[in-house]
Amino acid sequence: MENQIKRAADLILKSRFTTAFTGAGISVESGIPPFRGNDGIWTKYDPKSLEIAWFMSNPVESWNIIKELFYDFFEEAKPNKAHLVLAEMERRALLGRIITQNIDNLHQEAGSKEVYEFHGNSKRLICLDCRKFYAVSEISLDHIPPTCRQCGGLLKPDFVFFGEGIPQTALAASYEAATISDVFLVIGTTGDVMPANQIPYMAKSAGCKIIEINTEPSNYSGDITDIFIRGKAGETMKKLGAALFTTPLDNDQDGIDQDFEIHGQ
Ligand code: NAD
Ligand code: ZN
Repeated sequence: MENQIKRAADLILKSRFTTAFTGAGISVESGIPPFRGNDGIWTKYDPKSLEIAWFMSNPVESWNIIKELFYDFFEEAKPNKAHLVLAEMERRALLGRIITQNIDNLHQEAGSKEVYEFHGNSKRLICLDCRKFYAVSEISLDHIPPTCRQCGGLLKPDFVFFGEGIPQTALAASYEAATISDVFLVIGTTGDVMPANQIPYMAKSAGCKIIEINTEPSNYSGDITDIFIRGKAGETMKKLGAALFTTPLDNDQDGIDQDFEIHGQ
């Protein structure tokens, strides 16, 4: 593993533009379960509860499930080392952008700026009638379904339901990343979810090197991945951070350098 981390760090240090492509696995150490796998939520819930048509015709039932899935414990989740190292890589100009399939806002909470959310964000709600946005913290979820203060319309989480399109900005940023990057760092994703899963393939076709971190092999691993690092995202990214950050930052606001046992300190 140490050798793989060194090879990955070398690639990133030499890269002109590195993109991180993240999935539910990066947030597992923050306490948010992934959808797929043994403990995944599809073992407990029917995916139809996140279909847009079902939501529109059954807002109360759908909201009760959504609340349990995304709002009862997402609130408690904090960024882990993997989110923090990515934010630090951006500050050090070692990372150009993050494309995430996650809706948990943890990249932004870790301090990353160039974040493109392929599936939207659970921290915003949108009125389906007047399109007004609300921060979820402004809206009480004690009354289900929540409604718009301006027009009384139904509020929907601003993440992408099954049957909805991908936000244009994220789509454009992802296609662009696939063409301008020379390294893709793929973390914690099965590569099962269409069309997001196509982005690393597009990057590979455009000549990008693929580094992957996952506890299990994914669809990419035996196929397009150049360097597979098997391990938990947080633990592995901490080691990658230590290999990348060989000098202390001038402006080490979070004291993060100490965590990485920066060489020479
Ligand atoms: P997924 O649920 O399909 O797969 C999770 C992947 O993470 C698997 O490959 C698994 O092996 C890996 N993994 C598990 N624990 C890990 C760890 N500690 N470190 C590294 N890897 C680990 O996830 P997906 O491919 O991202 O697709 C699910 C979709 O569901 C996403 O597109 C997203 O929209 C949504 N989702 C989001 C969240 C979130 O926002 N945190 C959580 C669940 C699902
Ligand atoms: Zn409204």
